[in-house]
Amino acid sequence: MLDAAQAPSPLDETHDPARRSWVASAQAAGTDFPIQNLPLGVFSRGGGTPRGGIAIGDQVLDLAAALAAGLFEGEAAAAAGAASGPTLNPLLALGRGASRALRRRVSAILAEGSADQARAAACLVPMEEVALHLPMVVGNFTDFMASRFHTARMGARRDPGNPLPPAFLHLPIAYHSRATTVRVGGEALARPHGQSLGPDGTPRFGPILALDFELEFGAVIGSANRMGEPIPIARAGESLFGYCLLNDWSARDVQRFEMMPLGPFLSKSLSTTVSPWIVTAEALAPFAVPAFARLAGDPEPLPYLMAAGDQAAGGMDVALECWMTTPRMRAEGVAPARIVATNLRHLHWTFAQMVAHHTCNGCDLRPGDVLGSGTVSGPEPEGRACLAEVVMEDGGLTLPNGERRSFLEDGDEVWFTGRASRDGFVPIGFGECRARIEPARPFPTA
Ligand code: CA
Repeated sequence: MLDAAQAPSPLDETHDPARRSWVASAQAAGTDFPIQNLPLGVFSRGGGTPRGGIAIGDQVLDLAAALAAGLFEGEAAAAAGAASGPTLNPLLALGRGASRALRRRVSAILAEGSADQARAAACLVPMEEVALHLPMVVGNFTDFMASRFHTARMGARRDPGNPLPPAFLHLPIAYHSRATTVRVGGEALARPHGQSLGPDGTPRFGPILALDFELEFGAVIGSANRMGEPIPIARAGESLFGYCLLNDWSARDVQRFEMMPLGPFLSKSLSTTVSPWIVTAEALAPFAVPAFARLAGDPEPLPYLMAAGDQAAGGMDVALECWMTTPRMRAEGVAPARIVATNLRHLHWTFAQMVAHHTCNGCDLRPGDVLGSGTVSGPEPEGRACLAEVVMEDGGLTLPNGERRSFLEDGDEVWFTGRASRDGFVPIGFGECRARIEPARPFPTA
């Protein structure tokens, strides 16, 4: 028997697969944003002030306009008000109760047969007319390394017989990454500069040579804990407001030279790209699955990381893909190549375990903090979710037009997609996490 705090979010009418929206595009085959999703983002139109919105089909519901139109009351009105400004941090701080109230009311407004259709239709903005912004101020960004398959492949060069670091099976390992360089997808990434060891073993400085992506999933923290007050595993799920796709860009040449013994620094802080919509924990409730099954002989984690509810339903079934084009592919009209296919189920640790571990020393998490899952690699070759794994095992990647890549070259474009699906429910998606690599800019000398 699970207690309420351990159980996943309850299913309600907002998850009903029979519910349809009067927004026609929300029913389009393959849409990421049916009425069962309702992710939150921050948008602007025509250079106006950024403000909160909810994606529905190919439209955005302007929450400030909907609030002004009198479409909300009570807790939902407080939530819509908190989401009406240029960042969603005030809404995140209200916690999951406010998120649930907002979701239920917006679902009712947008459902077929709603008496509010005419007033709500006036608050819709076509998605193609808006600019999407980073939806929250990210105060802290912690990047975990929660896939056993990624960790083992990366560790195999050091010790093929024992590739997992000593702590991996006992706790979710992580490092503190950089929050200021988190960017929303769609922006270009100019190849950064860095110091690494050249082939002759002497240091070189210049545009980085081994630029890689890491296909990750990001959790966005909602309500905060006070410093000194750990969040127990049984309550950790309530801290997880929602999720996005996350690309932890990595300079492998810089990383190899700099990271012993304090860990990655400039190789990771160069930039992180996230998808622009936060898919709420409520929207993902139907796609909960048991936590990753430990292998026979694996140690049992200590009790502060273990809760029955989290073990029963702390995982999520989300198919994740990475797609890519090169300048030559685009010039030749070659279709984009899917270069990674994996699933969030492959994570060895749940996000609730990451929260419980992160806070066990009293460290406080704040609304808008981001926890990265680490590269979500799976066991199969197509599940290798960064190029470093492919390079290590196969020497590089062969694209459909015969081009070879070890790492990313200028003009390459990479994007992630995610889709949660389960029989009996309407699938939901995450939008895109996309960036194109631009040539390095001249390094300033004066
Ligand atoms: Ca990473």
